[in-house]
Amino acid sequence: MLSNPANARKGNRVAAAGMGIAVLGTVFLYQDGAGQRLGNYGWIFGGICVGALIGTLAARQVKMTAMPEMVSMFNGMGGLCAALISVVEFYYLVASENQAPGDTYGGPVVSGHLVIILLGLIIGSVSFSGSMIAWGKLNGKIKDRSFRGQHIINLLVLLAIATAAVYLVMQFQPLLSWLFGLILALALVYGLLFVLPIGGADMPVVISLLNSFTGVAAACGGFLYNNNVMLTGGILVGAAGTLLTILMCRAMNRSLANVLIGAFGGGNSGVLKAGAEQGAIKEISIPDAAIVMGYASRVLIVPGYGLAVAQAQHACHELERLLESRGVEVLYAIHPVAGRMPGHMNVLLAEADVSYDKLLEMEQANERFPQTDVVLVLGANDVVNPAAKTDPASPIYGMPVLEVEQAKTVIVNKRSMKPGYAGIDNALFSGPKTSMLFGDAKKVLQDLVTELKNS
Ligand code: NDP
Repeated sequence: MLSNPANARKGNRVAAAGMGIAVLGTVFLYQDGAGQRLGNYGWIFGGICVGALIGTLAARQVKMTAMPEMVSMFNGMGGLCAALISVVEFYYLVASENQAPGDTYGGPVVSGHLVIILLGLIIGSVSFSGSMIAWGKLNGKIKDRSFRGQHIINLLVLLAIATAAVYLVMQFQPLLSWLFGLILALALVYGLLFVLPIGGADMPVVISLLNSFTGVAAACGGFLYNNNVMLTGGILVGAAGTLLTILMCRAMNRSLANVLIGAFGGGNSGVLKAGAEQGAIKEISIPDAAIVMGYASRVLIVPGYGLAVAQAQHACHELERLLESRGVEVLYAIHPVAGRMPGHMNVLLAEADVSYDKLLEMEQANERFPQTDVVLVLGANDVVNPAAKTDPASPIYGMPVLEVEQAKTVIVNKRSMKPGYAGIDNALFSGPKTSMLFGDAKKVLQDLVTELKNS
């Protein structure tokens, strides 16, 4: 159900109900080997109530454009939970060893247990601190930072974590608890170092990767407690996040290896200053734009982040209906990373009841542009930037983009000549077929609708 927008809400509800049943089953039916039930109901339900309240309030109040930040924050909390489970279980192991050295678990069992504890700790902590940085970056509080030798330092920290973890597993004894603390600290530092330099067009890959990390860390908890729900849920998130990461990497033309060592992105190289070296542009008025679209046989709309900011999806749908009533075929071209989260444009347009069969994926849209009379770009910038194909120095070079310049006419709506998320100029705006229609997307669309109604 989740793989089709029409059923996605239902799929989400079924998944939530299933998880609810699984949690209640675990809390009330679970018994350990000695027949003991969980107990601690006050703590468990107290925690569930506090978490549910915060989660519900946050999800109800969040603006659609701030959704990726919230996803990052929630994901970080998942990572933190997984790391805390490992901390608790490690000290439980230490206490058991102190009580009855050697015979509580026996060597191999302790090692096996410890490997899972450390994996959960490392992956969960990286996911936590990385997600916090991603959260800060998405809401503009933290800037991209990179320094010389960053990749080497990242690799060295990773190596130090691996060495310390292997040593702890091989030589486990309660006296080595400080090493456990060191691994935790290094993993937190690695999460910071890993995400800090990444910026611009590469953020979606990182968020999706951190999401899969959290899933794997939670699955480690499932192993520790022999709890199938946690294991299955964790693996599901890990696998889905990994698949999404691979798909995003393909959409942005990045290799996974690059993502893992934090070697890509950086908003600085090849970035032009806003407004610099931008060629001459021509503007179009609302009446002229209405005429051009009203007499076209096919119009392709390219929605972007600006459409979400302006909350112009309803006005956009109205324009679509009006054009169709005049016999114009109207379709939407959806870039996989348009907006600020995977599927952002699909969600936005679904909110305005735009029919799913009107949405073209990037490849389909690129095939149709040459036979399209008018492309209306609404608050999109990076996803239609030809520099991704033509300028090897550009930070978005290699990212597949919507080739709108193939159409007969391109009308671009945005408020100014400011750059988009990647911070780079866009030669499309001064292209021979392009006209700029400046203004807030909602206002412009409403004016176009009025103009078409009156003509
Ligand atoms: P961009 O961020 O490239 O451009 C958006 C444009 O919208 C801006 O140039 C802005 O110009 C304009 N705009 C802003 N507000 C309004 C408004 N009220 N009315 C009209 N226009 C407006 O968006 P794209 O969708 O083209 O590209 C998405 C970018 O975000 C990519 O670089 C992608 O990698 C990145 N990203 C994507 C994520 C995802 O998962 N989808 C997650 C994180 C990042 P002006 O200020 O002049 O109006």
